[in-house]
Amino acid sequence: MQLMWFRKDLRLNDNPALHQCCLNGPAAAIYFVTPSQWQQHDVAPIQIDLMQRALNHLSHGLGKLGIVLHVIEVETFADIPQQLSKFCKQHNITNIYANSEVEVDEINRDIAVQQLFNQNGQQSLQLYQADCLINPGEVLTQQGEMYKVFTPFKNCCLKLLRDRVNLQPYPAPTAQGKAIENPSITIALDKKESSAWPASESDTYQLLQKFIDFQVEDYHQNRDFPALSATSQLGPCLALGIISAKQCVYYLLQAFPTLLDGNATGPVIWLNEILWREFYRHIMVLNPRIGKGENYNTKAKNIIWLNSKQDFKAWCAGETGYPLVDAAMQQLNQTGWMHNRLRMVCASFLTKHLLIDWRWGEKYFKQHLVDGDFASNNGGWQWAASTGCDAQPYFRIFNPTLQSQRFDPNGKFIRIYLNNRLQQRQALNDKQIHQPFEAIVEHKFARQRALLSFSVLKATG
Ligand code: FAD
Repeated sequence: MQLMWFRKDLRLNDNPALHQCCLNGPAAAIYFVTPSQWQQHDVAPIQIDLMQRALNHLSHGLGKLGIVLHVIEVETFADIPQQLSKFCKQHNITNIYANSEVEVDEINRDIAVQQLFNQNGQQSLQLYQADCLINPGEVLTQQGEMYKVFTPFKNCCLKLLRDRVNLQPYPAPTAQGKAIENPSITIALDKKESSAWPASESDTYQLLQKFIDFQVEDYHQNRDFPALSATSQLGPCLALGIISAKQCVYYLLQAFPTLLDGNATGPVIWLNEILWREFYRHIMVLNPRIGKGENYNTKAKNIIWLNSKQDFKAWCAGETGYPLVDAAMQQLNQTGWMHNRLRMVCASFLTKHLLIDWRWGEKYFKQHLVDGDFASNNGGWQWAASTGCDAQPYFRIFNPTLQSQRFDPNGKFIRIYLNNRLQQRQALNDKQIHQPFEAIVEHKFARQRALLSFSVLKATG
């Protein structure tokens, strides 16, 4: 019997570890529920709900293929090596297959498992790479180093994708035995309704296909306007591995065969975003210190944060007085999702206008986002705070009022999320809607203060 160990790869298709496990089958599968670990990782209740739904779809799909899914609850990753070893002995299993992950705790968990297996000499863990388009560590400069700037990294990725990366997704495995009914899975943690997002592979694929058929060609024009539903909304499914980045690019290429040569503006820009995801993952693997809360730019340790708890509370609650920032935080608090443009605006506001450490915002986002993903979240926060790799220059400080005028010109988005608050005031026209009201801090003052604080990042020499 072979064993497939699922983690953030909750899919049957394009799953190299599962594919190989079943080729060598018959196969069984295992999944560890780790409540304390997830709490330590600030996994949002809405993502727990999506995870539970995705696991049940996976479990059903595995059952149809005659694969038993064993779900075992332990507290943290530290408990896994012993539990896995015990399970394997009980079930007479020697070969375990899994897809690697990019985060530090996850990498250390796998090392601990491999060390234990080496000691007892009875089992082996084989890791496959299924999360990125290209293996982290394989997109390098001519000097053999990780790129420090996104555009050359992207160009190198495009070349590799054109020349040698096989994007063909792995097929779902064949049946391993008679169909069975796997028991349904409940995760005993706080959950928040996630039904707005697909949890099955087929629904996720349909969402992707709908986006490719009807929206991606206008992506470059519409993606920055939060009132339009113009982005794919695939983030939550990518974060849990219900779909892979490879599948996204493969199906995009089916519709736009000259995509990798830079033809078709909307699809090219969308592919760029998938490559930002790739960039942050590669950075994380090659710089594990980032996974431990460090600034990418070591000079950033000299930034003096004000860290006012009161200001942080107002930001979290969407009560800064800046309509776009407040509406965005309401979107996050109510729906578990926030538009990318607004993530940039809110992160910039917290770190630059309020001088609050980006790690506070990173944590708050992770606690609430349905697509919470360590590498992309950390990358986004360090980009906005100017502490990251190829980050926003420190002197670029978004003016939240101008951002509002530009990206929500009629205040449509603001009116959706601040409706209750606006009803208590006299009617505002499309110009007035963007203006701060009882603001927590005045923009010009905040800008000057931030320039001073962030000047420690000034390039020297
Ligand atoms: P689309 O626009 O359709 O893009 C397709 C996919 O590409 C996304 O689903 C995502 O996987 C990837 N992607 C898009 N933009 C980025 C980006 N800038 N960086 C990395 N990957 C990207 N993304 C997350 O997946 N999880 C997070 O926790 C997260 N936190 C963020 C925090 C901040 C402060 C910022 C500025 C950005 C963050 N992002 C995060 C990136 C981005 O905002 C979301 O991926 C995007 O809004 C998701 O919407 P979508 O699925 O419709 O994306």
